[in-house]
Amino acid sequence: MGRKFFVGGNWKCNGTVAEVKKIVDVLNGADVPSAEEVEVVISPPFVFLPQVKALLRSDFAVAAQNAWVKKGGAYTGEISAEMLVNLEIPWVILGHSERRALLKESNEFVADKVAYALGQGLKVIACIGETLEQREAGETMTVVSEQTKAIADKIADWTNVVLAYEPVWAIGTGKVATPAQAQEVHNNLRSWLVANVSSEVAESVRIIYGGSVNAGNCVELAGQPDVDGFLVGGASLKPEFIDIIKSAL
Ligand code: PEP
Repeated sequence: MGRKFFVGGNWKCNGTVAEVKKIVDVLNGADVPSAEEVEVVISPPFVFLPQVKALLRSDFAVAAQNAWVKKGGAYTGEISAEMLVNLEIPWVILGHSERRALLKESNEFVADKVAYALGQGLKVIACIGETLEQREAGETMTVVSEQTKAIADKIADWTNVVLAYEPVWAIGTGKVATPAQAQEVHNNLRSWLVANVSSEVAESVRIIYGGSVNAGNCVELAGQPDVDGFLVGGASLKPEFIDIIKSAL
């Protein structure tokens, strides 16, 4: 079976109750490919999750943008995987580069979060990607394979994982990876999975691209054989997100 195209919208730390309603109204009214053809997952900030879940069309799912690394308890300000499960939030984004950089989340910490969230029954969008400095030093594959290895060392089942390749230099910068750059890394990641996990996982796991995806560049990127979808930041707050969903076909 082929890999179903996946489009995630990461709203990051944006929105008001009124703005959320407006975006959800646009999504709900959109004519997009069926859920058999594309999986759409919307990730608002924690505080808006119940609102979005309640209002959003049933063929789109919701994701949290983070979860705590273990069972909840005395961790002020954190949200546990159990809480997300309790609220029937099916997905969580983990290891976003903004958290890795600003909050110093290490490869091991992200991998622990991925393993814990999967163990609680959540599906995970696991983010990896190199900085500009690392790319220019020719270290892209070393960096992304180390990030992936940390995860591979801690999980046995990849069924509920989507791997998001998000070069840090492309996130929120307007500087998108070329289709060839994205394809090269995705293809190398698949080869890494063949060698280090299994050919079944390499064949079935969806590797999506993130970093300044918009209505103008999504079609060519989506045409790459190893690009199985997108994680979209800025453009997911705008009506052009619909065009990105449509690039699945
Ligand atoms: C992201 O935050 O995951 C992202 C890809 O952002 P943007 O699309 O704005 O570059």
